[in-house]
Amino acid sequence: MPVLIPENLAELREAACSHDPVLLAGGTDLMVALNHRSQRIESDLTVVSLAQVPELRSWSHDPTSGELTIGSGITWSQLERAPFDALAPALAQAARTVGSPQIRNAGTIGGNIATASPAGDGLPVLLALDATVDSVGSDGERSTPLSELLTGTKRTSLAPGEVIVAVRFKVDDGWQGYAKIGVRNAMVISVAGVALVLDGTARRARIALGSVGPTVLLAGEASAFLTSEFDWDAWTCSEATIATVAEMAAEESRPIDDHRSTAEYRRHGVRVLTSRLLKRGRERR
Ligand SMILES: Cc1cc2nc3c(=O)[nH]c(=O)nc-3n(C[C@H](O)[C@H](O)[C@H](O)COP(=O)(O)OP(=O)(O)OC[C@H]3O[C@@H](n4cnc5c(N)ncnc54)[C@H](O)[C@@H]3O)c2cc1C
Repeated sequence: MPVLIPENLAELREAACSHDPVLLAGGTDLMVALNHRSQRIESDLTVVSLAQVPELRSWSHDPTSGELTIGSGITWSQLERAPFDALAPALAQAARTVGSPQIRNAGTIGGNIATASPAGDGLPVLLALDATVDSVGSDGERSTPLSELLTGTKRTSLAPGEVIVAVRFKVDDGWQGYAKIGVRNAMVISVAGVALVLDGTARRARIALGSVGPTVLLAGEASAFLTSEFDWDAWTCSEATIATVAEMAAEESRPIDDHRSTAEYRRHGVRVLTSRLLKRGRERR
């Protein structure tokens, strides 16, 4: 099976467009899928490594627009540290919960998005941040809201060979956090995950949920209620608002029973995590 290792974005575009490629970033999802035989690489397919493309490993922050652009090849180990821990604290918190140090050294944000698992820890955060995904494929470049890119459980609107180049979102003036529960404290796929963004500039709250639906979900009604009830000047909200928002988020989740958890425990998890995050968010700005 041929393996191509492009060294810049132009070479990557050429490789991805002119072959029937299997894209390989950190390999932490792809190799598991191959080992479990849920994915096969036929001998006539070409593996295109993304590891040596510097453009995918770059990032930028525009202080004027406030936009943070993160290359798809940025790893979890990078995301958990400076400057991302200050620019996107919820993403850094999510990064710290991913797998083990070895997985975080290899796994990338682009691979997390493309895998589109409802349990992907980066996804609720990026959804709450209203992120946009930049990609390039045989039809050229496009920018797609993450909410539209994720079409179902492990399904995206990416065409075969279409490469995620970067993900970007506004770094807002406010508070953001991510919390998850699992069956243990480390090396654990989430049983429920919640991301909360309190955007002080837009005066808007967004709550996104992981592992409690076929894909990550925006808790739209809970977000709208919190947006209207939060006192954006005093930066606080009442205990009653917290309880109502937590209940609404739990009601908006669509969990299932499986080998990791019952649906009821997942719904309870959403209630507790939402309440916990909101209590933290109203105290710290
Ligand atoms: C032991 C273990 C523990 C884990 N724990 C967690 C966890 O706690 N939380 C969590 O969220 N995940 C976890 N994962 C899953 C995985 O580490 C992450 O989803 C990671 O971000 C995947 O990135 P990658 O670079 O390794 O992707 P890869 O495995 O290289 O690729 C995954 C898929 O995405 C495609 N792809 C990769 N990059 C791009 C791109 N730029 N454009 C288009 N398509 C692309 C590939 O073709 C492939 O289909 C774990 C995995 C393992 C093995």
